[in-house]
Amino acid sequence: MADDFRTVPLHPPKTRTFSSLGRRLVLATLVFCLCFTLAMVTLRTWQAWENNLAQMNSELLLIDQVFQNTLAHAIWEMDRESLDKQITSVANAAPVGRVVLNILRPGQSPEIIEFNRYASNSSSVAPVLHRQLVAQPYIGANEKVGELTIEGDNNLLWERLWDEARSIVITQVIQSLLLAGLVMTMFNRLVTVHVVHIARHLGKLSPQTLNFHLKLQRSVQRQDELSLLEFKVNALQDNLHAHLERQHSDELALAASRDQLAELVEARTSELKAANQALEALSRHDALTGLANRRYFDELKDVEFRRAIRHNTPLAVLMCDVDFFKIYNDTYGHIKGDECLKQIAGTLRSVFGRSGELTARLGGEEFVVVLPNINASQACEAAQRFRESLAELELPHGGSAVSPFVTLSIGVAELDTKTMDHFDQLLQRADQALYRAKRQGRNCVAL
Ligand code: GH3
Ligand code: MG
Ligand code: MG
Repeated sequence: MADDFRTVPLHPPKTRTFSSLGRRLVLATLVFCLCFTLAMVTLRTWQAWENNLAQMNSELLLIDQVFQNTLAHAIWEMDRESLDKQITSVANAAPVGRVVLNILRPGQSPEIIEFNRYASNSSSVAPVLHRQLVAQPYIGANEKVGELTIEGDNNLLWERLWDEARSIVITQVIQSLLLAGLVMTMFNRLVTVHVVHIARHLGKLSPQTLNFHLKLQRSVQRQDELSLLEFKVNALQDNLHAHLERQHSDELALAASRDQLAELVEARTSELKAANQALEALSRHDALTGLANRRYFDELKDVEFRRAIRHNTPLAVLMCDVDFFKIYNDTYGHIKGDECLKQIAGTLRSVFGRSGELTARLGGEEFVVVLPNINASQACEAAQRFRESLAELELPHGGSAVSPFVTLSIGVAELDTKTMDHFDQLLQRADQALYRAKRQGRNCVAL
């Protein structure tokens, strides 16, 4: 189960560089603040310029109001001293950069008095005020005596603008930096720390630690996205844990039923084997007497025959037939007849029980015995022993013409390698001998 977890990598691929979300947020905030600052500085500087122009204009107007009548009066009175004094005062006033006084005298070319605060006559953006100087020698009479031009101080205007622009830039930059710092601190405290905590928690997860729930180190009065994430991670762990438990118990149950199945198969196989063995035994043996049946006998006879030929050893066959068995059946009934056949088979087994000796029921009341390593006369002796053993049982046979008891006729034949190359020839010879035994009066052995 642990392997299932290891298939998912614990760390992101190294090919991509790690970049903190907080840092990216701060960078984005700073870029935004920079753009915003630029826009704000432009706007506010333009406003400041407009204000400065208006302020300088009103200052020039004030100067104009103060001096226009006295200047006109001094020109009219031709009071040179007062005129110079006043012009100098005007020229020395702070917002004034240049003063030009054009004195008009009828019949004469005009006299121009000029004061310039700066040597160069560069183009100016400062406001300029033109005033016609009118003297009033008596009430109701107006005489134009000159023209006054007051030009604002260009440098003062720029100085004031720079001062304001600097304070605007400084304010905006400080505001941006403070905002970025605040964003970073808040983001770190509220998000980054907990995201890293969640990543560590997930990294440590294994089937054994699924029980340990994720617990974020924070105190929150209200639910937020992190609470939701915490809840979902824990729910996922619970589901996974339940799933693994179920899988484990299923695997155990499967293993148990597999073992059970294997045991069942084994039991069935051994039962089948036993049944097969029983079936094979049944198919090879005669059901009534338990001796080898004709089919099995046909399998075995050739083996013995070839062995005798190969080793050049004697081989004898006895063909045994119950005398007057039809009459036995007629006298005692078929069931008794079966009993009798069983007892004859038992006797056959007890007489020919040595290894290599083969006994079989060929059918009806006929039995055959194959005796390896035994010649004809030894076989005749064995046949006599069999007859005698049966006789000792004294099975009553009221219908027999040769004895009061059940008797056998036995034909004996011996392998003759010169004339025989097949077992059935030997069997046929034994059958012929049996026929002779029957002809000779039954209850005897014929060779
Ligand atoms: P013989 O002395 O010439 O051999 O006379 P027989 O009556 O023994 O010979 P026959 O071939 O005429 O009769 C054989 C009888 O064996 C006929 C049949 O009723 C009986 N028989 C064959 N198989 C069985 C069996 O499985 N059980 C019983 N009870 N009788 C059988
Ligand atoms: Mg017969
Ligand atoms: Mg018979």
